Amino acid sequence: MKQSKILNELVEALTILPGIGKKSAQRMAYKLMRSNNDKTLNLSEKLANITTQVQSCSICGIYLDLSDAAMQSETGDCKLCIEENRDVTKICVTESPADVYTIDASTNYKGYYFVLDGNLSPLDGRGPVEIGIKRLEDRLEKGNIEELILATSTTIEGEATSHYVQQLTHKYNIKVSRIAFGIPLNGELGFLDSDTISHAFNERKLL
Ligand SMILES: [Zn+2]
Repeated sequence: MKQSKILNELVEALTILPGIGKKSAQRMAYKLMRSNNDKTLNLSEKLANITTQVQSCSICGIYLDLSDAAMQSETGDCKLCIEENRDVTKICVTESPADVYTIDASTNYKGYYFVLDGNLSPLDGRGPVEIGIKRLEDRLEKGNIEELILATSTTIEGEATSHYVQQLTHKYNIKVSRIAFGIPLNGELGFLDSDTISHAFNERKLL
C-alpha cells in the first residue's frame, strides 16, 4: 500500500527536533492531521516567523525579536551586551539562552554572558564547530576577561562541554570556575540520588 508522500516529508522534517525519531515524528504528523486546521496553520506560521523575525545577538547568542526595540541596541546586538555598568572581566558560559534569563533573574551576577549552541555530543555529530566554540574563542581573544564561569548542565554532554571549554581557556590565562551542584534548598538528603550527594559532598566548602 502506498503511503502519503507529503505526510512522509513532514515526518522527515520533524526528525530535526531533538530526541524525535521516526516513530515520534510519525505520531506528531498524525496528531497534526487530526488537529483543527487553524491550529496547524498557526504552528506553521510561528515556525515561519522564527526564521524571519528572530535572530541571535552576535555577541552573546541570546535570541532577539527584530521588531522589538526594547530588546535590541542600535548595533543590532542585545541590550544586555552593551550595558556599561556590567563587569567586563567576567563572562558566564551557558548552553541555552533560557539559562541566561534564569541566572540573570536569580543571582546578583553582573558580568556578561555567552551562549553556546547546545552541548558537545559527538554521537549526534555535535562537535566544537557546531556549538560555536569559535565565537567563544573570538570573544576570549578580545581580552579583558579574567574569570569564565561555566554554567552548563551536569549531564554527560554538559560536563564534556565544560571540560572542553576549561581546556580551551588555558592559553588565555583566564581563571575558570564552575557553578556548584548539590543539595537543593529545603532538600532532605534521604530523597536525593547518590550521584547528587556525592557531588555535593566533594564540592563542600569551609565555613
Ligand atoms: Zn547579547
